[in-house]
Amino acid sequence: MNRETREVVVLGGGISGLTVAWELKKAGIDVCLLEKANAVGGCTRSEKRDGFLLEKGPFNVIVRDPSFETLLDDVADDANVVSASKEAKLRYIYRSSALHTVPTNPIAMLTTKMLSPSARMRMLRGLFISKRCGASEETMEQVATRRIGREATDTIVSAAISGIFSGDIAKLSLSACFPSVGAIDQNARSLIAYGLKSALTKKKKRAPRWRGMVSLDQGLGALTHQLGEKLGEDCIKGASVQSLTHNESGFTIAYDCDGDSHTIHARRVVLAVPVEVAQRLLQPLLPNAAEHLSPIKSASLAVLNLAFRRSDVAHPLRGFGFLVPRNEPEFPLMGVLWANSIFPHHAPSDQQLLRVFIGGARDPNAVMLSDSELIERAQLGLRDILSITGQPTLTDIVRYAPAIPQYHKGHRERIAKFRKELAKLPGLFAAGNYLDGVSLNDCVRVGAKCAADIRIELEQDLTSPQQKTESPCPVG
Ligand SMILES: Cc1cc2nc3c(=O)[nH]c(=O)nc-3n(C[C@H](O)[C@H](O)[C@H](O)COP(=O)(O)OP(=O)(O)OC[C@H]3O[C@@H](n4cnc5c(N)ncnc54)[C@H](O)[C@@H]3O)c2cc1C
Repeated sequence: MNRETREVVVLGGGISGLTVAWELKKAGIDVCLLEKANAVGGCTRSEKRDGFLLEKGPFNVIVRDPSFETLLDDVADDANVVSASKEAKLRYIYRSSALHTVPTNPIAMLTTKMLSPSARMRMLRGLFISKRCGASEETMEQVATRRIGREATDTIVSAAISGIFSGDIAKLSLSACFPSVGAIDQNARSLIAYGLKSALTKKKKRAPRWRGMVSLDQGLGALTHQLGEKLGEDCIKGASVQSLTHNESGFTIAYDCDGDSHTIHARRVVLAVPVEVAQRLLQPLLPNAAEHLSPIKSASLAVLNLAFRRSDVAHPLRGFGFLVPRNEPEFPLMGVLWANSIFPHHAPSDQQLLRVFIGGARDPNAVMLSDSELIERAQLGLRDILSITGQPTLTDIVRYAPAIPQYHKGHRERIAKFRKELAKLPGLFAAGNYLDGVSLNDCVRVGAKCAADIRIELEQDLTSPQQKTESPCPVG
């Protein structure tokens, strides 16, 4: 069904756009979603092949927000939600040709071989002494160096952050990427004092339904696939949005589908496309809003799923996997997850599935390598460190030219200004990973908030149909 006028049209069918569209449809609102690809999901897609479950993008989610729980309830039973294995808590960092466990307590910090003795002492001392800074916004590198010293920052923090943002800690803003950690840094004199104080004054929080990392038995792609199914005919796939215009009767969206040009009209539009596309669509309509998005660049990334016979891998692979810090620039990979050590159902029992990340902000051109070059590079990185002898039994490669938006210094201010500009055109909303968090949990939280704002606006319209109210801040 492709009616010409809809109440709300959502542009982009990744987890962000799907959340907005589904929340609106559930509330009985006339909504339609346009997705460029022939399947919904954006980067959240899974494939079953030869007994393997291949995650193309996100691999696990930490459910922190009630809106994610609601979404899971809508598409799955509790029995479909799978928790990561206990041993997945063990994480490694590659340093000086060896894998070292990430130290998570003071004893481990004192004994870890991945840092020099003076760096270990500096890191430990950093937990106890006051290292608060008055500056309003700092990069992750600035905060970490101030707190735990240069070597621990270069080794542990740079590796951990590459695993989440694929980014450069010298540019990423702590308060934008991890607002709660930023708040602790601003308020806590010493990290130990903060830990003790919060343990003693612990407020009773609502227990999360699922603790730690979870996925679905059919993969995270089942989440987006199910949402697409629920939208049914209100989800138009293969619809590549070309332009967005506005007049007194609302918005007109021009899109290409099946080789033809189409238009659709809507009173409200949600931009849930990647930041680069949102910026392009906004340029003629709200150039000031587009201007605030233009500095937000995304890191590129190649994700390889490689399987090996278990008998060909001498390393026991007990744990989550390993990440590579920036002080190992010669190592060819960004990180490796031991997929079926985390979720055993991702591979047959005689196989080992590895998820290899290549590229990121440190190596932006890697994504242009050919398939064979990427596989060769992966094998080069894996062979010695995991003692792999055989050839892969399965290979799968996904390239993300824009993968993850980088929240550089100034991001929060930029987004606040963007939202202010967006609010100047009532009916225009935004959701997506370029705003307020890149994790699936954050995308769903922002998407659900966007849907709630639209509902409020619609209710206001119903109670005072003559009054055209200015839209509230689109996302929270
Ligand atoms: C490799 C990788 C691994 C990740 N791992 C994790 C993880 O383990 N856990 C976690 O919580 N998060 C992870 N993330 C982050 C998280 O998955 C993403 O931030 C999130 O899925 C982004 O969702 P989105 O809907 O905002 O954007 P997208 O998924 O990018 O969706 C945007 C959609 O817009 C569509 N589109 C683009 N242009 C147009 C157009 N012109 N017209 C119509 N549609 C258009 C696209 O086709 C796409 O479907 C990972 C991300 C990547 C890339």
